[in-house]
Amino acid sequence: MKFFDSHIHFFPDKLAGKALPRLSGICKSPYFSDGTRGGTLQKMQDWQGEDEFAGAMVLHIATSAHQQKSVNDFAAQSQGDKLFCFGSVFPTAPDALQELERIKALGLHGVKFHPDYQEFFIEDPHALPLYAKAQELGLPVVFHTGRDPYSPWLIHGHPGAVARLAERFPKLTIIAAHMGGMEQPEEAAKYLAGRENVYFDTAFASHFLTPEQFAHLVRLHGADKILFATDCPWSTVPDELGLLRAAGLTEEEQENIAWKNAARLFNISI
Ligand SMILES: [Zn+2]
Repeated sequence: MKFFDSHIHFFPDKLAGKALPRLSGICKSPYFSDGTRGGTLQKMQDWQGEDEFAGAMVLHIATSAHQQKSVNDFAAQSQGDKLFCFGSVFPTAPDALQELERIKALGLHGVKFHPDYQEFFIEDPHALPLYAKAQELGLPVVFHTGRDPYSPWLIHGHPGAVARLAERFPKLTIIAAHMGGMEQPEEAAKYLAGRENVYFDTAFASHFLTPEQFAHLVRLHGADKILFATDCPWSTVPDELGLLRAAGLTEEEQENIAWKNAARLFNISI
């Protein structure tokens, strides 16, 4: 099966060797690539087996105000060789709004918010103008949604909060990562399933959903609104494609999730 991975991460070569072991230690999660651009592409080639790697969306995260420009420059440089990138702004950066315009001008495909790493709650008042600007620029946003191993005791992007933002910004495309809420499938079903402007990605889902739970969420939300994703380096293509295959979906549903929805949403030929 052809697949496009809508949620992966890597780092500049000189940072990867330190960043991955550090994050892995904090999150107590093993990692499956060396965290570099080249190493990640090589992994995708290795993992494809009989399947076909059609490309990936790299979600970079600015974890401080002064870092956002270099993160977005790195994102712009990283595009090519089947790789597409989202940009990132740090929500309290004084120039975050202008940086969103730069993200658009750089040809990046959307904006990633990770409220755990960026130390905010997705409904914080200072973040709202950023969503309004992303909506105006036609940039989709992706939220880390649900629990996160980085700060598991505090949920910064609850599915209910995503739902309120989806109502407040009806023309904003929101991707609620991790099937609408990591380790929160009931909340994802309750608050997000079926919402017009909300997509789910499958990143890391094989680690917290059974195939039955996964199939249930797909059917509730709609197979045309789900994006295949791994969260590499934190999970792998065999694990996440394995979940998609085990869920008992039709071939058409699987194909939509595996790559067609991403091609349509991101307007890319893959
Ligand atoms: Zn991720």
